[in-house]
Formats: sequence, C-alpha cells, structure tokens
Amino acid sequence: MKTLGLLGGMSWVSTLGYYSAINQGVSEALGGLHSARLVLYSVDFHDIEHLQRTGDWDGSGEQLAQAARSLERAGAEGLVLCTNTMHRVADAIERAVDMPLLHIADAAGRRLQAAGIGRVGLLGTRYTMEQDFYAARLADRFGIEVLVPPGNEREQLDRIIFAELCRGQVLADSRACCLGIMDALGRRGAQAMLLACTEIGLLVEPSHTSLPLYDTARIHAARAVEWALQG
Ligand code: GLU
Repeated sequence: MKTLGLLGGMSWVSTLGYYSAINQGVSEALGGLHSARLVLYSVDFHDIEHLQRTGDWDGSGEQLAQAARSLERAGAEGLVLCTNTMHRVADAIERAVDMPLLHIADAAGRRLQAAGIGRVGLLGTRYTMEQDFYAARLADRFGIEVLVPPGNEREQLDRIIFAELCRGQVLADSRACCLGIMDALGRRGAQAMLLACTEIGLLVEPSHTSLPLYDTARIHAARAVEWALQG
C-alpha cells in the first residue's frame, strides 16, 4: 500500500469525511485490521479563505505548495488536495513536488463519463462555478458539458458553503434552497448534479432528490484508495 498525503482543512469539516472514507475503503478492500497509510497536513482555513477572497491565487498556491512539500518530506507518495476550489492552483502545487496529484476533477470526470452523463449541473463555491479551471477540465478531458446556476443562486450557494457548511452547520432552509437550485438545473437539461464542493454532501443526500448526485468528496476519496492499493 502506498502512503497518501492529504492536504486538508479546507474545511476541516470535509477533511474528517475524507479520513473516514479512505480508511473505510482500505478496510473493505483488505479486511482485518488494515487501515490507510497516510500523512495529513491540515491548514488554517482562515488564511486560505482570505487569499481566495482577495484573489491572491499566487499566494495561496505558494502556501499550499509548501504544505505539499512537507507532506512529501514526511513520506507521502501521492497527493490528495481535499477541496475542489483550491484545485484552482493545482499547477503550482504539482510543480513543487515529485509525487503525483490525484486531481479531483479527473476523478469526477471519469466517474461521470463511465455513467454516460454528458451534461451535468455543477454546485460549488463561486470560484469553482465561475472560473474556468474546473468546467474546462471536465469539458476538455471528458467531453462533459457543465451547467451552473444563475448569479443570485451562485451567491446563495457560496454563502451557505462558507457561512454554514465549512463551520459544521447543516440547516434545513439551506437544504431546501440547494434542492431548488438543483431542480432548476435539472429543468435546464442537467442529467445529474456534481457536488463540486466537498461540504455539499453534508447538506444534500440521494434520499432528498430524484436527481442523481455525484459527490466529489466521496469520489475523490475512493480514487485515493484505488490509487494507494494499485500495483
Ligand atoms: N471545500 C470546498 C470545495 O470543495 C470549499 C472550501 C474552499 O474554498 O476550499 O471547494
């Protein structure tokens, strides 16, 4: 089994889910007392969120690159960046280390493609919904068309993520709001919803909707397990 390097804390709430899902996956695959071999570097999200809000992507890229180097020095062989948004600076992180970065959008794209989904509704932070780094990767590498909510709904989602979910608050009103946004995307032709924020799976689950849900946090954790155990 290879050693995974988890770069988390963005937010710590979703990193908890990664730790649990990766260990669960290894336990199911190997049985007995097996558990994942991993190193975790958890950032102070206060600092990273400030850099996001001020548009300092070079600064956040440098901070996460340093953290990735620490993980590599600690023995990590493959990097799992436990957030969708910060894949905005995946190139800077990849340049800083020798180990591969297991890109969250590639894991999601592969899963959607295998399910025959060509048009997906994307829910995430405003950075993930509005900037090109995520949707363009899904389109270019996997031929998947991405639909995002209109501006006012993107603002609502972004507020729910940062003001509630990243602080561990899961509220019924926000769930109803999110389900309304998803329904509208479904009416526009989205075949499924990509939960492209690692906290949204805490708010909406398959039992809440008839739309197929693809939770990037779970898909990414499963990809990490597959990678750690292969060859
Ligand atoms: N965890 C979230 C994501 O998957 C949002 C927090 C962040 O901005 O990193 O995008």
